[in-house]
Amino acid sequence: MSELRQNLATREWVIIATERASKPMDFANPAAKAPVAEREANCPFCPVHEAITGPELFAVRPEGGRPDTPSWRLRVVPNKFPALTPSPTCAILPQRLKEGPYLRMDGCGHHEVIVEHPRHDQTLAGMTVEEVRLILESYWHRHHQLASDCNNHLMTIFRNYGEKAGASLRHPHSQLITTGIVPLHIRTRLYEAQRYFDDVGTCAYCDILRHEMKSKERLILENDGYAVFAPYASGTPYEMWVMPKRHRASFGDLPQEELGAWAEALQGALARLAKLLNDPDYNYVLQTSPYPLAAVPFYHWHLVIIPHLKTKRAGFEIGSGISINIVSPEAAARALRETL
Ligand SMILES: [Zn+2]
Ligand SMILES: [Zn+2]
Repeated sequence: MSELRQNLATREWVIIATERASKPMDFANPAAKAPVAEREANCPFCPVHEAITGPELFAVRPEGGRPDTPSWRLRVVPNKFPALTPSPTCAILPQRLKEGPYLRMDGCGHHEVIVEHPRHDQTLAGMTVEEVRLILESYWHRHHQLASDCNNHLMTIFRNYGEKAGASLRHPHSQLITTGIVPLHIRTRLYEAQRYFDDVGTCAYCDILRHEMKSKERLILENDGYAVFAPYASGTPYEMWVMPKRHRASFGDLPQEELGAWAEALQGALARLAKLLNDPDYNYVLQTSPYPLAAVPFYHWHLVIIPHLKTKRAGFEIGSGISINIVSPEAAARALRETL
């Protein structure tokens, strides 16, 4: 019999309706990704194409190396096709404008690409922990640097890996977008976390983490600073949360020396996923508090990994907002834990 489960932090329900005798191989990517070369002549992110991407905003390169030249290990550049752009009109607070009964604003914000590695054929699961740490450090630096723009209320950092996850380029990269608004579903999540804190007096995410580390039923891996687990109310098969053990609402408040343990946990989670399910497409999203709520006691930053397997959101999910997950988080965690 299927069951409904509630996410303790958001109060959202999901349906866990496991398919009979499904094995991880039933969800594995059916075909390996086509092999690609170490360099690609048409790729704007490959070295020696630095002029195509526009001036770099942040980079890791050997001492003395000039900006926008090869020899970099990582670059952050403006997105060529930005969803939002910083513009002179954004220097003053963007105005809400009425258009008949409707409301509109100029599309102010920052949309940047983190080119994670010089090699076109590299994957995050295949990188060293140090290479992953550099990626996380670039997120951290840009989060700090863009905090000075008072129009940035929220930074969304995400990685689309593979076509099903929305990636148009194979070269390893992730993106960030800042917005001057905090969208409704994030406001709801913050409200529910605050409501839990009001009732119970603790952070819902700290309570989830404490329970998962104690029960170990859905725990996949852990190190000194982080735990990776399949959430109790996973909305999709093999969903994973990478959660810091220390409570902080904003990942921007993370001391730089804790980035290494985060990189180790994230790389370990993605390497397991790639091995178990034959390198599937996935999205990951960093869930962190909006800038003005950096230090609240009720929210807890974490990173969510959503693989794209053979399941699709269909009419019921779109209509009700309730996900149907056909792999129990316990089975997913067991399989991921036993991989490697
Ligand atoms: Zn490339
Ligand atoms: Zn917490």
